[in-house]
Amino acid sequence: MPPNTDKIATLVSQLLVELGEDPGREGLLKTPARVAAALEFLTSGKRADLKTVINDAIFTQETNSMVIVKNIEVYSLCEHHMLPFFGRCHIGYIPNGKVFGVSKLARLVDMYARRLQLQERLTEEISRVVMDSIGAQGVGVMIEARHLCMMMRGVEKQNSEMVTSSVVGTFRESRATREEFLALVGNRGT
Ligand SMILES: [Zn+2]
Repeated sequence: MPPNTDKIATLVSQLLVELGEDPGREGLLKTPARVAAALEFLTSGKRADLKTVINDAIFTQETNSMVIVKNIEVYSLCEHHMLPFFGRCHIGYIPNGKVFGVSKLARLVDMYARRLQLQERLTEEISRVVMDSIGAQGVGVMIEARHLCMMMRGVEKQNSEMVTSSVVGTFRESRATREEFLALVGNRGT
């Protein structure tokens, strides 16, 4: 069910009043409707259907080599403050006969990022869905992100980045596999 954007716009208008603003002034006239539309989009992953997102972009390929996709952009909303956190996601997996079309991994990241999230949970959800969708032998996901709720609220940690990782299957069981993944994604800017 899509959210009722008219109702959200009304609530945003009330919020503006509560913040001491005049929702009738020129610059704010369309703000409630804009915020409602933005929020609908930014939470649309919650209402997306996994099968539709993956479509049929899973291909048969006999390989046991690690597949790595680095630097997938992530934009999400922290559920504690409803403020953005953003950064990069790195995904590695060892297939078991099936691989993803590369763009689908980015779509999956978007699907789980477009909702109220925690970076830790986002990381785990991505590793789990990659694992389950292609029956991989193992998956590793690392997200490096900056949180506006930290950066904008005077904690003075403007350059701090939160790094989370989640490993499942052989990435969890095999230290060598895990270390290979971390070595491949760990060097920034490479
Ligand atoms: Zn926050």
